[in-house]
Amino acid sequence: MNIILFGPPGAGKGTQSKHLVKKLKGIQISTGDMLRSEIHNNSEIGKKIINDMADGKFVSDEIVNNLIKNILFDPEKKDKLIFDGYPRSLSQAKNLESLLKSSKQKIDLIFFLNVDKQTIIRRIEKRKGIENRSDDDMNTTLKRYDIYMETTRPVLDFYSKNSNFKEIDGSLEIDEITSKIDTFINV
Ligand code: AMP
Repeated sequence: MNIILFGPPGAGKGTQSKHLVKKLKGIQISTGDMLRSEIHNNSEIGKKIINDMADGKFVSDEIVNNLIKNILFDPEKKDKLIFDGYPRSLSQAKNLESLLKSSKQKIDLIFFLNVDKQTIIRRIEKRKGIENRSDDDMNTTLKRYDIYMETTRPVLDFYSKNSNFKEIDGSLEIDEITSKIDTFINV
């Protein structure tokens, strides 16, 4: 089963994808984690993206698309993909479509975790003290939210007409969101 978790920063995509990884023996595809690890390893990509990421700006489609390309064609990961934070733009969504087609896969479920701005700000303030991410300060959070509204939210139009698109109230407690997600998964 391949699943996309979609929603603004702080919606709980990471938390719910970890649940799905466990439940479905899936593989979490977090482009954010992959990019943070490039920075941690001080790779060529890491050096290019460090400032933009700390600033809350998007990393280029080219870099991100390249990171996920190999994953789609890895036979061990086939039909086990849990996307967390990808796609984040229309061009990434189209890129994913084309990679899915050529790797003979499809998306089975798309969960849209819908959360309002105030809840996001509250959650990211809390996360700041726990995860210590360089992009979790208030100004950067607000910038990331604006970029989400401008560039990522339009991707919803691309998916929302599909019967496998499920909107979930992302302001609920973690366990409540997990239960709602589980109602759509028969394993
Ligand atoms: P996340 O961990 O998903 O919240 O992502 C953290 C940051 O990584 C984002 O604010 C972007 O700077 C970058 N990033 C993660 N995924 C993508 C993506 N699909 N496209 C562009 N930038 C991304």
